[in-house]
Amino acid sequence: MARTPFLAANWKMYPIPAGALEADSPYRPQSGIDTAVFPTFLDLKACIDAGLPTGAQYGHPDSEGAHTGDVSMVMLKKLGCNFVLCGHSDRRHDHHEEDTDVAAQANAALRSGLHPIVCVGETKVERDSRRQKKVVERQVKCLPLTQNITIAYEPVWAIGTGVTPTPEQAQDMHAFIRSLLPDTRRESTRILYGGSLKPDNAEGLLMQPDIDGGLVGGASLKAQTFRELTTIALRIKA
Ligand code: PEP
Repeated sequence: MARTPFLAANWKMYPIPAGALEADSPYRPQSGIDTAVFPTFLDLKACIDAGLPTGAQYGHPDSEGAHTGDVSMVMLKKLGCNFVLCGHSDRRHDHHEEDTDVAAQANAALRSGLHPIVCVGETKVERDSRRQKKVVERQVKCLPLTQNITIAYEPVWAIGTGVTPTPEQAQDMHAFIRSLLPDTRRESTRILYGGSLKPDNAEGLLMQPDIDGGLVGGASLKAQTFRELTTIALRIKA
């Protein structure tokens, strides 16, 4: 089954990149490729109003309640979001999110009508001790895999470091993740690669059959660089 390539821009705690809201913004989907942007909570509305497919970087699983500083999935949907990131490694690290929290977020996102992009991936210590598949299996197995979700494989040691797995190592993990999916979702679920993805290394990674696009951090903060990534993805995948 042909899966439409998908490039998601995680802007983390940075402002909206120059040009992102313009008519010729490279963050808009084109024929043959899906895109989405993940700004800070403060910038969600501007992106939605500009017509960009937009998601939050986190949503609380409860629909409302005494959770100071948080925003619920229900509220994000009401604002006009289509997507939400669940379990990004920054959140697992900074906010001590565990697998069960991430699964609760993914389930709440689905209940609210948001499409969850769930991040999984091992640390350097885990890879160095060859536990990467055990860790990723644990992270994946608790997710609502029979539902329509996207998984982003983001080895923690590759995020923001300029270091990436080889295309073969990434493909091996993506194929492993796909093998964990139920028959009904194995071919249709998109599995994105994330971690220092940029125009220089995108070709080798995106050529891999089980890599369906990318969750892009640093390289998504400049419109021109993101445009180059969409051009490469379209050439290889569409
Ligand atoms: C990310 O934050 O999800 C990410 C992949 O960052 P970077 O591309 O900068 O490694």
